[in-house]
Amino acid sequence: MQTSIDHFRRTKIVFTLGPATMEEAMLEKIISGGADVARLNMAHANHEWTRMIIRRIRAVSARIGREVAIMMDIKGPEIRTGDVEAPIELKEGETFDFTVKPGDKDGGEEVRSVNVNYQDLINDIHVGDIVLVDSGLMRFEVLDKKNARIRCKVLTAGQLTSRRHINLPGVKVNLPSFTEKDRGDTLVGIEEGIDFVALSFVRAAADIETLREFLRANNSKAKIIAKIEDQSAIENLDEIIDACDSLMVARGDLGIECPFEDLPVIQRRAVKSCFHHGKPVIIATHMLESMISSPMPTRAEITDVANAVYEKADCVMLSGETTVGKYPLECVAIFDKISRRIESEGPFDLADPDLLTGDKHNLLRSAVHLAHEMEGSKLLTFTRQGFMAQGLAAMRPTRAPIFAITNSVTTLRQMRLLRSVIPLLMELESDPNDTISKAISLLVDLGEVKIGDKLIVVTDILSHDRLVDSIQLRTVR
Ligand code: PEP
Repeated sequence: MQTSIDHFRRTKIVFTLGPATMEEAMLEKIISGGADVARLNMAHANHEWTRMIIRRIRAVSARIGREVAIMMDIKGPEIRTGDVEAPIELKEGETFDFTVKPGDKDGGEEVRSVNVNYQDLINDIHVGDIVLVDSGLMRFEVLDKKNARIRCKVLTAGQLTSRRHINLPGVKVNLPSFTEKDRGDTLVGIEEGIDFVALSFVRAAADIETLREFLRANNSKAKIIAKIEDQSAIENLDEIIDACDSLMVARGDLGIECPFEDLPVIQRRAVKSCFHHGKPVIIATHMLESMISSPMPTRAEITDVANAVYEKADCVMLSGETTVGKYPLECVAIFDKISRRIESEGPFDLADPDLLTGDKHNLLRSAVHLAHEMEGSKLLTFTRQGFMAQGLAAMRPTRAPIFAITNSVTTLRQMRLLRSVIPLLMELESDPNDTISKAISLLVDLGEVKIGDKLIVVTDILSHDRLVDSIQLRTVR
């Protein structure tokens, strides 16, 4: 039995699973509280836990009658420092080495060093480049490189502990986009029926094709979310959006890899490019960061979330807030509240995804324009793979919700990502007219529509034994 939606929020909510949200009772509250997509961050998950948590989410969803989507976020190419025996206190101006072969020091005792897990770094990096360690907390400038070590000057002091993440702004790193670990993780995800794979550090369309081929070869219907996190992704933004199913503006790494003042410009450009291509877009990271430890967001966070909603992004995402935060449920409620408020404010203009051409998309465009003109009307469509719903969502209807009826639970979950779409599960009849009548009864039963409501139905109808695309205006009776 699927539950009705009390009232309607257009912007969807992604939350990341972790110790704060993995227990069954909390999952139940978060899913009933309106979260749409659960994200597994594979940088911190083993296979046993992954299988357990996916099964748990499915069980909770079935019990409460609200199927959420599961996104597996694979780690991608990542450069890390190795282990250190004790934290190293780095002083500004000090000389420090990164070594690419364990134990291969070349500086005598006076130069301290740490190993790096990527041997080719020595070839990718150049004198003058900047090395950032631990989410940009420590900054280094490359002075010279020799044999197996990169000699740097410490620009920003800090404490270096084991296995810290390294960012190399502007450096073209020669690592594979889909690593051995990613393959192993994705296979587990496929076996457990994940709905989305988020590919980290996508640099070009070819990275997406590699993953798509892997999914195809393993008979997976999972859709691909491209995470843009570095300068190469920004250079190749359009081809990446064209190749992926959906985009994530991963502002955590993006804010380290690019000048921070560029971040809002990149976000706006990415959202706009997704509009043109008719692809869903997720705004991620630090949206309610202070709520990891505080029950209320800062004013700046409220405005940041509002900005994503004003921009008409499909989803906003929670990371640390729901993995280790003290207030995961409150974060979902606050996303919900801000989204509804801002959505009611406008702007009420429609999008024009100019790269969506062809008869089908023109039909969808007309349906959304009709709904826009008819106050109080609602859109209804039927979809096996989500194509119709995504096409309607791409036009960004600002008044009508989009009821998208499918007979596939995978499609239902994948539609959770789409702005303004309310996905519902129902068997489709062989006669399209019967399907429409059945869908209207379902909507009435769920309290989504009432007698007298106008529905703009986008579907195919039987005409002389042929299916013909149509837009119909129906009044609920
Ligand atoms: C990010 O960098 O913003 C992000 C979402 O990626 P991750 O959390 O995997 O580093």
